[in-house]
Amino acid sequence: MSDPYTEKPWPPSLWKATSTENFTSATLDGPCDAEVVIVGAGYTGLSTALHLAEKGISTVVLEAEQPGWGASGRNGGQVIPGLKHDPGELIRRLGALGEEVARFAGEAADVVFDLIQKYDIQCDPVRQGWIQSAPSESVLRLVRKRCEEWAQRGADVALLSKAEVEQRIGSGPSAGGWIDRRAGSVQPLAYAFGLARAARSKGARIFGQARVERLEKRDGQWYAHTCNGPTVKAPKVLIATNAYTDDIWPGLHKTILGAQSFLVATPPLRGDARRILQGGEVTSDSRRLLIYCRRDRDGRLVLGGRGPTRTPTDTSQWAHVEKALELMFPGLKGTDYEYRWQGRIAITADFMPHVHVPEPGLVIALGYNGRGVAMATAMGKLIASFLATEGNAQIAFPVTPIKTIPFHELQHFYMMAGIMWYRLLDAIS
Ligand SMILES: Cc1cc2nc3c(=O)[nH]c(=O)nc-3n(C[C@H](O)[C@H](O)[C@H](O)COP(=O)(O)OP(=O)(O)OC[C@H]3O[C@@H](n4cnc5c(N)ncnc54)[C@H](O)[C@@H]3O)c2cc1C
Repeated sequence: MSDPYTEKPWPPSLWKATSTENFTSATLDGPCDAEVVIVGAGYTGLSTALHLAEKGISTVVLEAEQPGWGASGRNGGQVIPGLKHDPGELIRRLGALGEEVARFAGEAADVVFDLIQKYDIQCDPVRQGWIQSAPSESVLRLVRKRCEEWAQRGADVALLSKAEVEQRIGSGPSAGGWIDRRAGSVQPLAYAFGLARAARSKGARIFGQARVERLEKRDGQWYAHTCNGPTVKAPKVLIATNAYTDDIWPGLHKTILGAQSFLVATPPLRGDARRILQGGEVTSDSRRLLIYCRRDRDGRLVLGGRGPTRTPTDTSQWAHVEKALELMFPGLKGTDYEYRWQGRIAITADFMPHVHVPEPGLVIALGYNGRGVAMATAMGKLIASFLATEGNAQIAFPVTPIKTIPFHELQHFYMMAGIMWYRLLDAIS
């Protein structure tokens, strides 16, 4: 039986209840060898496995629970290209590499929708764009600049007037906003299952209930020791454990802050409420304390936002997102929510995803800052190309040293202080 608060065997999400795709992983019952072993079966691990398997490289994926159990099976399913930083800021930070990183991030949603089409993944893909609404004139200036920067790079984006934003979202007030038509939505768990199915169809071996407790390097080979006993040996390894990272590599879990994001889903909308996001767009506002929402294939409204850092113990801990939903859409006041669930997001100090290569043959990719549906998929493709190459290949993304966040043990305090601070900034800007 499912226990919502230990999240075993699955968190009680809308996505688990409505997934058309399914995937049953194999049991690792003896030692095996591969060219690459991947730890973690979310989008990062599964996309890497699929792209490696497409190249004929033998790959083993080891997942502590089941593929899609982490953030990849619980998220809002918004497929948004780009990073938290706009192209101009990426160039300012990274110099010449910045333009390449902006291009890579700008194409990330294409990678998702292309894979869905190629492997016929049954995950309710919709590509009607992402609307980012600006709550004030000062925020609108930033949104305009963001839209211009992407338009200059040929992206299918447009500014929206206040009336257009309010009409499309079915909520106000807004000062205006922009639409990024490269974006869309998926049923996130079905997408994860579909990636796993595709990777397996190409020859990747995917094992569930196979937590890697220790990585050891001996004679140029990596040994991934699992909790059940069997060991997988490979010359190359990818750690793709994101916000669920444990002690698998020294200091790694201290390079990110593990924020919780809480989601609720209403019953299918009826009557007047059906005009909310009726065009199939997804939306988030541009406040620092992000609220994001979308409809699912049955017309439910799904809304999420940041919340307390500890695992909830009763439904009252979703009160803040329910309040946000009812403030945004007063007509939905008093709704009986059908689903409540949450998951962990990996926040980095520079708001960039992190790629580390601490030792030859070992790659680590994590820290998507709540923007990982498209980015983690695209990152998997990039890392697969790197792992498939011998010699002095480069990753076309900044590769950084592992740097722990000072006083990381205070992360619960940081997150709560951050939430209070951002609430204040949002209120006054
Ligand atoms: C509630 C929520 C809403 C979100 N909404 C959006 C959104 O709308 N759009 C968007 O772009 N992004 C969103 N995100 C972010 C996005 O889901 C993530 O960035 C993305 O799924 C990260 O994928 P991943 O494969 O790196 O990590 P995960 O999917 O978290 O996978 C990591 C896996 O590693 C496994 N693992 C950990 N340790 C071990 C070990 N020692 N051995 C074996 N396995 C291990 C875990 O069990 C887990 O399954 C959201 C995240 C959350 C939590």
